[in-house]
Amino acid sequence: MILNIKNLHINYEVKNGYVSAVQDVNISLSENETLGLVGESGCGKSTLGKSLLKILPKNAKILGEISFKGQNIAQYNEKEMRKIRGKHISMIFQDPMTSLNPIMKVKDLFLETIKAHYPEIPEDEALEMSGKILSDVGIDPIRMNEYSFQFSGGMRQRVMIALSLVLKPEIVIADEPTTSLDVIVQAQIMEVLKKLKDEHKMSMVLITHDLGVVAELADRIGVMYAGHLVELSTAEKIYYEPKHPYTQALLKSIPNTNIDDRELRYIPGDLPNLVKPPKGCRFASRCPYAKEICHEKVPPDFEVDETRVKCWLYEKVKA
Ligand code: ATP
Ligand code: SF4
Repeated sequence: MILNIKNLHINYEVKNGYVSAVQDVNISLSENETLGLVGESGCGKSTLGKSLLKILPKNAKILGEISFKGQNIAQYNEKEMRKIRGKHISMIFQDPMTSLNPIMKVKDLFLETIKAHYPEIPEDEALEMSGKILSDVGIDPIRMNEYSFQFSGGMRQRVMIALSLVLKPEIVIADEPTTSLDVIVQAQIMEVLKKLKDEHKMSMVLITHDLGVVAELADRIGVMYAGHLVELSTAEKIYYEPKHPYTQALLKSIPNTNIDDRELRYIPGDLPNLVKPPKGCRFASRCPYAKEICHEKVPPDFEVDETRVKCWLYEKVKA
């Protein structure tokens, strides 16, 4: 087990209290595993992803354990985290335009990253490492002399992937890595990511609101709703035997391109207010199966047929 998250709570302090963005999440990640994290916007996916690098805004408070190779990094200070970021755990962000410094040449972005962790590596060797990873993502190393703003959106995302992987981290967190790109470029980028992940034998946390995107990549999928991890299972079970009513609704909301009218079925209702979250199940106000206890008590995690599901419907199966 490379990563083990236990009883993780993340709250954002705000004027009228705090936003309960992640509540009591328990999840682990194995070597070489790809874990998909899915859920609607605002479910806490990015908060959870960023907590693994401790790059959350200042008003965020982390409680619980984030154990990376046996060390609880939730307690690490900034100096200790700087040694982890990029070298052991790295992140591919949603929008490379804002995450890549536009006034630096691409080669300087690489040199900066490499030198931060390995100051002893000579520049020519660092440039060779950078050129190699750039060609792995399909970019001619000669373009290292250009600035990131000179690249197209898809190419910029490839630069970002190369930069995140140049130090061969054990874990890469990809947060909506293709959201801003068109469908064809999206598919190409995911292909590059999958190839490199396999070659480098990395573990990956792939965050997306789109269940379709994780379909081909993820080994297991965690479904988040309003800060709770409501279902966790293999990708196959999530697709073919979804247990939680929210997962079922999410799957139905995927547009089916085989259907002529391409009806998009949204889940009726809104996410609850996370400053005053409901007392019981956070999905209760939108759930067609809600019963009394759902409004009263947060459901525990039930193990059903190798799936972990946070829903009272499974109470009788096994507690
Ligand atoms: P998206 O896909 O839109 O990024 P998400 O599922 O990743 O959504 P988060 O961005 O993690 O969700 O947000 C979880 C909750 O925390 C939301 O209610 C959001 O409004 C809230 N939140 C995020 N950042 C802050 C902040 N700095 N201060 C207060 N609340 C915040
Ligand atoms: Fe629906 Fe109740 Fe299950 Fe929540 S616990 S998803 S409200 S049935």
